[in-house]
Amino acid sequence: MTLHRTKVLIIGAGPAGYTAAIYAARANLEPILVTGLQPGGQLTITTDVENYPGFSEGVQGPQLMEEMRLQAERVGTRIIYDTIKSVKVSSDGVKAGGESGDAYESDTLVIATGAQARWLGIPGEREFGGYGVSACATCDGFFFRGKEVVVVGGGNTAVEEALYLTNHASKVTLIHRRDRLRAEPIMQKRLLAHPAVTVCWNTVVEEVVGDQQPNPAVTGLRLRDTVTGEASDLTTDGIFVAVGHDPATSLFKDILDMHEGGYIKVAPWSTATSVERVFAAGDCADSVFRQATVASAMGCMAALEAERFIAEHSALFNDGQHAPLASDLVSADD
Ligand code: NDP
Repeated sequence: MTLHRTKVLIIGAGPAGYTAAIYAARANLEPILVTGLQPGGQLTITTDVENYPGFSEGVQGPQLMEEMRLQAERVGTRIIYDTIKSVKVSSDGVKAGGESGDAYESDTLVIATGAQARWLGIPGEREFGGYGVSACATCDGFFFRGKEVVVVGGGNTAVEEALYLTNHASKVTLIHRRDRLRAEPIMQKRLLAHPAVTVCWNTVVEEVVGDQQPNPAVTGLRLRDTVTGEASDLTTDGIFVAVGHDPATSLFKDILDMHEGGYIKVAPWSTATSVERVFAAGDCADSVFRQATVASAMGCMAALEAERFIAEHSALFNDGQHAPLASDLVSADD
């Protein structure tokens, strides 16, 4: 077992985690970032990203995350490929345990564990992921200019995505498994009044079908009516799955206050959680925007707030009660 000590422990290797790392490292806090199972996060499963500022020609999601990783490392972040399995926070600091068996001690914690879109788990969905199957209209809607698309789901996200897609697509079909939407009434009203939107009630998607040549592309869906059981086919160029997201926060459910759905509660205009010295940034704390740019901004806030916390408590830490910096450390092997 190795014991890693730092002033700022960051969990998560998406835009929030890497941005927190860049800021904390440049403040000489020698942060440690523990990546988790999917280094790079949700952007590693997308293709073109055209809405992250600074890339006039757009950028591939995996490349963007690789650049963020390199930038975080270059300014002094220690990146550790491990998955945190336990966290304890006390007035002495943060103690965490990794799947590798390594232990982590820190003065502050930045949680940037992200969220994952829920998928339908049907044939063709994974195969055409990024080639007509998407879980983010804001990210991918632009690629469906003048085309016909489907949105699956009946909540606020599905309705918002369907309305957003009317800016690009010629026709939007919302497919919902029941005869009533879960979305707020005002959103429903807007959706149902929109001339480019058709709602397909009591229907589930059973398969995404498409061509592999010349390039992978969705061509249609196999549907089933949940009342009559009747099967049918629908021609479409794309399908946006909007059946909810799951924030990766189960590790913290007994420690931190959460919103319904498991999103970590943070103070307004802050990333401070309900527990001192713990900050949360990005999609694990954001059920509203869920954008890489917002996650990065929150990561920046979290690092600045962690830095402020450390500065305000420096007298205590300077009494020798703080975790020394990683560079001061002699690692202990079991
Ligand atoms: P929700 O959980 O609210 O809605 C998920 C929808 O997907 C439901 O209609 C559900 O159907 C449907 N669904 C779930 N699983 C399946 C499945 N396997 N097959 C077919 N359909 C399925 O998630 P959202 O992402 O829409 O919203 C999450 C939270 O974020 C909510 O609290 C929402 O209000 C909030 N939000 C707020 C926004 C805003 O204020 N502007 C914007 C977006 C989200 P059923 O209804 O039958 O259960």
